[in-house]
Amino acid sequence: DQTQLSKTSFKFFGLGGSNEVGRSCHILQYKGKTVMLDAGIHPAHQGLASLPFYDEFDLSTVDVLLISHFHLDHAASLPYVMQRTNFRGRVFMTHPTKAIYRWLLSDFVKVTSIGSNGYNDKDENLYTDEDLAESFDRIETIDFHSTIDVNGIKFTAFHAGHVLGAAMFQVEIAGLKTLFTGDYSRETDRHLNSAEVPPSSSDILIVESTFGTATHEPRINREKKLTQLIHSTVLRGGRVLLPVFALGRAQEIMLILDEFWSQHHDELGNGQVPIFYASNLARKCMSVFQTYVNMMNDDIRKKFRDSQSNPFIFKNISYLKNLDEFQDFGPSVMLASPGMLQNGLSRDLLEKWCPDEKNLVLITGYSVEGTMAKYIILEPDTLPSINNPEANIPRRCQIEEVSFAAHVDFRENLDFIEKIGAKNVILVHGESNPMGRLKSALLSNFASLKGTEDEVHVFNPRNCVVVELEFKGIKVAK
Ligand SMILES: [Zn+2]
Repeated sequence: DQTQLSKTSFKFFGLGGSNEVGRSCHILQYKGKTVMLDAGIHPAHQGLASLPFYDEFDLSTVDVLLISHFHLDHAASLPYVMQRTNFRGRVFMTHPTKAIYRWLLSDFVKVTSIGSNGYNDKDENLYTDEDLAESFDRIETIDFHSTIDVNGIKFTAFHAGHVLGAAMFQVEIAGLKTLFTGDYSRETDRHLNSAEVPPSSSDILIVESTFGTATHEPRINREKKLTQLIHSTVLRGGRVLLPVFALGRAQEIMLILDEFWSQHHDELGNGQVPIFYASNLARKCMSVFQTYVNMMNDDIRKKFRDSQSNPFIFKNISYLKNLDEFQDFGPSVMLASPGMLQNGLSRDLLEKWCPDEKNLVLITGYSVEGTMAKYIILEPDTLPSINNPEANIPRRCQIEEVSFAAHVDFRENLDFIEKIGAKNVILVHGESNPMGRLKSALLSNFASLKGTEDEVHVFNPRNCVVVELEFKGIKVAK
């Protein structure tokens, strides 16, 4: 037998989510195999404009599509890909992701099919409920820490923190290993485990850069700030609007508020200051959370065991399907979707409550460029009304931001990147500026390795720009 070295090129191609947050979709090609990572939409756009640049790639060549988690910017164009394109590959996600995906996207179809003008514009619909149902049956599930092999493409799911069911995928093709983080967090929170470092090393790391080089305050401080802001607002008779994505981080906020309300029962409890979770999905989604407690961290499982009652059955929070059943008297706290105030319930309440200076709008998620949530943080004097574009609404309410988005900050990201030890790092899921700052910080962090065999290469490609890497594969000649 004779071994010889042969160069083989690995290609990375971003169809969305490169130098931006939104419409995540990345293509990997190596030795004739093609893997697609995520299939999201961009929350600041509507209809076809919200899709990744699918026309720039032949989707019929994709062997495997892996979905990291259920957030719309990672999963909401999947029914479009599966039903409306020439994609013929196999699709995988974790069990909780699949369970939540179903309800979430059916709500997404409902919201987007109404259209921004209030009438149904069929041409603008990305897909229908029927598409969604048909795609659902063809999605396969993967357990955490198990490896699946599809024609020589091996992939393993690891815990990513972030939201229930979120996974990192380590993909191995002909010995070359790539780790895709999706969105991830390294801080243990009230219900989720933090992201784990896979036991085997990776040659390439594709990592999110949402917060760039910013630093988060510790969780305990953020929780305190959140409860104090809400407490002082309701004490002065104000209303609190928390725009949240219906599922995921909203449940973390509810765990914090339900506990705080129990601790201040005399003052807030017994409906004196009601907390509402307003979402079409409320009940369905809470049942998914109640079902998957066994996939959460030790802390919450211990509470579940000790108290014999489900921690996601809240004592101080009631569900609202819509605003018709809501009597708006006196102070209240409202968690309402969507999280970026684009339309729907949260937007209606924003327009109703923003003229009163007693009220508070508290942003807890990551706000994408071009959305109302991003705009309102600038504390504008007026807001455009969504139902009456001619009208401007005065904005006098207080605006605050306390992040519970569950993305790594710079320190956590750097520590994780160092632990992975990949020599090639591809940055995705970040606006250009924070991503550029992260790239510079990483390059200076690894500067001492420059020119050596262990040099770390960092890439921040734009959408539809190929990153090509050469690997010397060992080929066995017969
Ligand atoms: Zn996410």
